[in-house]
Amino acid sequence: MLAAFSLRRPSLYVYGRPARVRFRIRSRTRLADVRITITPRGVRKPAGRIRLGPRPAGRDEAVLMTGREAGILPEGSYRLRISARDARGRRLRRGAGISSTGDLLVLHHRFPLAGPFSYGGAGARFGAGRKGHTHQGQDLTAEEGTVVLAPRGGVVKAVQYQAAGAGHYVVLDGAGEQRDYVFMHLRTGSIPVREGQAVHTGQRIGEVGNTGRSSGAHLHFEVWTGAGWYSGGRPVDPLPLLRAWEPAT
Ligand SMILES: [Zn+2]
Repeated sequence: MLAAFSLRRPSLYVYGRPARVRFRIRSRTRLADVRITITPRGVRKPAGRIRLGPRPAGRDEAVLMTGREAGILPEGSYRLRISARDARGRRLRRGAGISSTGDLLVLHHRFPLAGPFSYGGAGARFGAGRKGHTHQGQDLTAEEGTVVLAPRGGVVKAVQYQAAGAGHYVVLDGAGEQRDYVFMHLRTGSIPVREGQAVHTGQRIGEVGNTGRSSGAHLHFEVWTGAGWYSGGRPVDPLPLLRAWEPAT
């Protein structure tokens, strides 16, 4: 019998912190064969099945959901359903008042600022004119010290300083996708990550600052596709991405 089932986190970011599913099976046989199906809301066919295999009955068990159980799950709402069979293959019932389902929202990217911000005007946009070049990113005006978060897990490609330009900046190579993210003008001393470090989606990578060629605290944010930042890729307009990520924040 399913004696307990709970999902601790109602949403998760892929390459972020996993969601923990807890359950307890009560059975006369010592082991139960447990599986969890993941089904998009409003659809019958499961997107994935996690076979947990034989699990001991009579004690609390936990499993971590990453959103990558069946490849990377598309963004959206899912219903998790746990089921179990005893050692003789008999399907175990649910205990009175115990739900065998839980809802999980899967997201692919985290908005990179944890605080109030503004997209600014035309001059803040990708492609805006600058002296001798065009603006390769989107500027996000925010108070100095606003926490900057990794939009996607991955590996930190660069942590550098450029006095006459980017100031303190970080380049992040996104996991499972052809994208680099660049964060410029970060506050002096605010960068807790180093080159080569693996980070998870939503991990702190610095604070909004005003370093380098910058007049007023803001995050200059770039997105590069293909082979990435100055290694064969090209910058793309980050604004549609930012607008898509923002509602979940
Ligand atoms: Zn800028």
